[in-house]
Parts: sequence; C-alpha cells; structure tokens
Amino acid sequence: MAVNLISTNEKITTIHKEYCKACELCIHHCPQKILYLDSSINTLGHHPVAVKNPDKCTACGNCALMCPDMAITLEEVNSNDRKIDEG
Ligand code: SF4
Ligand code: SF4
Repeated sequence: MAVNLISTNEKITTIHKEYCKACELCIHHCPQKILYLDSSINTLGHHPVAVKNPDKCTACGNCALMCPDMAITLEEVNSNDRKIDEG
C-alpha cells in the first residue's frame, strides 16, 4: 500500500505505509506539519504515517531524507500531472 502525496513537475513523494515503524522522525522534520500517525495498523504492527492536507506538501524531501526505513521516497518525474493516489 503506497500513498502518493504530491506530483509537481519534478518530484513525487510516496509513503510506503507497510515499511513504517512509527518512529515519528518524518513527522518532526516536516516543515508543513502535515504528517501524523494513522489509527490503522500495518503489517509490522505499527500505526503508519499518513498525511493530512496533502496539497500542502511541497515535495521538499525532508521526510524521505529522515526516514531510516525507506518508508518514504522522493522521485524525479517528468509528468506535469498533479495527483493524489492511494492504493
Ligand atoms: S515532502 Fe516535505 S512537505 Fe511533503 S510531507 Fe515530506 S517533509 Fe512534509
Ligand atoms: S521516519 Fe519512516 S519509519 Fe519513521 S514514522 Fe516516518 S515513515 Fe515511519
């Protein structure tokens, strides 16, 4: 299960909830303060990170940089499409 937060002309930020161990590092380092621990439980038995107000994500990459478990990734993209996908 992955959630794509934002797609700009250059970058897309994706949360891979199944890898999250709920350490909260990304939450504390998000300048937009839009990350939180969800009430659901992932396959590791943790409450995974989720996003509120995904339109506020600037794809700065802080969360991906801080995550020790590669549960958030930032990728370069070529699309001009802005989208929010879950699945
Ligand atoms: S990419 Fe930046 S703004 Fe978006 S969720 Fe991560 S830390 Fe927050
Ligand atoms: S830094 Fe990674 S493992 Fe820690 S809460 Fe955020 S997504 Fe989950």
